[in-house]
Amino acid sequence: MASGDEFCAVCTEPLSWTGFGPCGHKEACSKCIARLRLIQRNNKCVYCQQESPKVFITRHMGDYTNRLNPTDFESLNGERNDLKLSYFPEMEAYFDDAKHYEEIRSLCGFTHPILQDRSLVFRSLNELRDHIEHTHHRSFCDLCLKDRQVFVSEQILYNPSELQTHEDRGDVTGPLANCNFKGHPRCQFCRIRFYDSNELFRHMETTHEHCFLCRRREPKKFVYYDDYDELHEHFCSAHHCCQFQSCIDQHFIVFETEHELRAHTVKDHADELPKLSGAQRRTMLTIPLDRGAYSGPGLTDADATGGRGRGPPRPGP
Ligand SMILES: [Zn+2]
Ligand SMILES: [Zn+2]
Ligand SMILES: [Zn+2]
Ligand SMILES: [Zn+2]
Ligand SMILES: [Zn+2]
Ligand SMILES: [Zn+2]
Repeated sequence: MASGDEFCAVCTEPLSWTGFGPCGHKEACSKCIARLRLIQRNNKCVYCQQESPKVFITRHMGDYTNRLNPTDFESLNGERNDLKLSYFPEMEAYFDDAKHYEEIRSLCGFTHPILQDRSLVFRSLNELRDHIEHTHHRSFCDLCLKDRQVFVSEQILYNPSELQTHEDRGDVTGPLANCNFKGHPRCQFCRIRFYDSNELFRHMETTHEHCFLCRRREPKKFVYYDDYDELHEHFCSAHHCCQFQSCIDQHFIVFETEHELRAHTVKDHADELPKLSGAQRRTMLTIPLDRGAYSGPGLTDADATGGRGRGPPRPGP
């Protein structure tokens, strides 16, 4: 097959430069291999998943692509390899083309295509960001910088209104416009945004509260309460909450049915019951009938955020 007919298995761009480890599969482009190895810390072949401790990067020419035998990989050892290849240590990659080696190296630095002056060198992300903000009046999205698994030079720059749209609803144009990205969801309690619904879900589950009784009844409905006080109010209004102070202090002593609460009261508070007045005792043993259990709206919009009586969508795969 001619080289022009083949596409990178990762980014689907036409393959002009490829790379492979000892397994010899040349399905990914050199850029994707660099991204996988340097950013995602993944050294596996994209095709057969075999670990490739070292890779050889060369021009993709179909069946005529330069080969390296599995045994040749063993003799590759850093800068002074016998084959006179350019060596990129962080990537554990050997290039047979010095120019392409430079291209890939520059892709990995603190640089961006918006810079017209190619001679500008930045030693840190902050230096690059400051320069772009002051000179080009564009900024990166901090969440994307942190979690979007691409090179800094592949990160998208926005003006203030584009950044707002990016955060709220997703991009109108560019590489993020045609994928599932619909903005960075926000926790409605803390007002903090998260990279995606998985991150938001993790936050809601660890920082806020949910009712285990409602969750048991409807496992696919995600309703959250800001803190335990709010959850306690819900327990008291929607379920059968033990009203003894010791149980209130202990948290989560709440029951699905009146019958269960009564059983708990008789079993765990037998000593305390005689000390109560008749009226108090009646309160403890008489539970108001269903005052209408809370039924918050379910979440339909994939990017609706968590919040009072609302939950983030179930995390995707
Ligand atoms: Zn690719
Ligand atoms: Zn392979
Ligand atoms: Zn972003
Ligand atoms: Zn929060
Ligand atoms: Zn509940
Ligand atoms: Zn109790």
